[in-house]
Amino acid sequence: MRKTVIAGNWKLNNTSKEAIELVTLLKRDLLDITEVDIVVCPVSTVLADVRDVLTESNIKIGAQNLFWEDKGAFTGEISAPLLKDAGAEYVIIGHSERRQYFGETNETVNKKIKAALVHGLSPIVCVGENLEQRETDKAFDVIETQCRESLAGFTAAEMKKIIIAYEPIWAIGTGKTASPDQAQEIHQFIRGLLVEMHDQELADSITIQYGGSVKPENIKDLIAQKDIDGALVGGASLKRDSFVAIVTGAC
Ligand code: PEP
Repeated sequence: MRKTVIAGNWKLNNTSKEAIELVTLLKRDLLDITEVDIVVCPVSTVLADVRDVLTESNIKIGAQNLFWEDKGAFTGEISAPLLKDAGAEYVIIGHSERRQYFGETNETVNKKIKAALVHGLSPIVCVGENLEQRETDKAFDVIETQCRESLAGFTAAEMKKIIIAYEPIWAIGTGKTASPDQAQEIHQFIRGLLVEMHDQELADSITIQYGGSVKPENIKDLIAQKDIDGALVGGASLKRDSFVAIVTGAC
């Protein structure tokens, strides 16, 4: 059975005070949830504050990025051991905003996944096409290249620790969601690629999240799709009510 995972990507939002307030409420509201794994991904500076609130909670913590070296002369970077130390168990890797604004490539994504796995962080690896690629029928090619290059060289045991997030760029922060059918088509395609790269048993075990304007109103239809195993939620994860409704809607 695949795990359903709902992760909130807070992006560059929430001061320490705001983060503590939000997770204090989420911890209480989501106390009884056992059906899905819940993750919040704050900015790195507030990870430890969030960890302190979420001790003995069913809500796990993720980071939004990492560097592949553990330590050294890499000004401004943060590494897997430091994220672990601050309470992270997951890390988002290759988000489209990092690919677009910070030069992330499939090669750097691959190195970051490796570093995360070495230190026991579960990578949430993002793939997805932009609007032009979708409109010119290149979505499948783009996603195949992203998956094959980003996920190259991992053993089956390592792959089982990885979550893939399909996030069509045209749906991120735009209010436009891929229809459940559109999303399912790509999720099924990704699972097929995993069969080719490994085997059916491995492919069936991997959680593939959908991301892109997920909200309380559309989570149920998305999660009802055979190959959609959760959501990576941006904007709607910043508000207590909408994140709680998305998590409960996925149960
Ligand atoms: C995201 O940033 O991963 C995302 C899916 O954002 P939003 O839900 O706001 O579209």
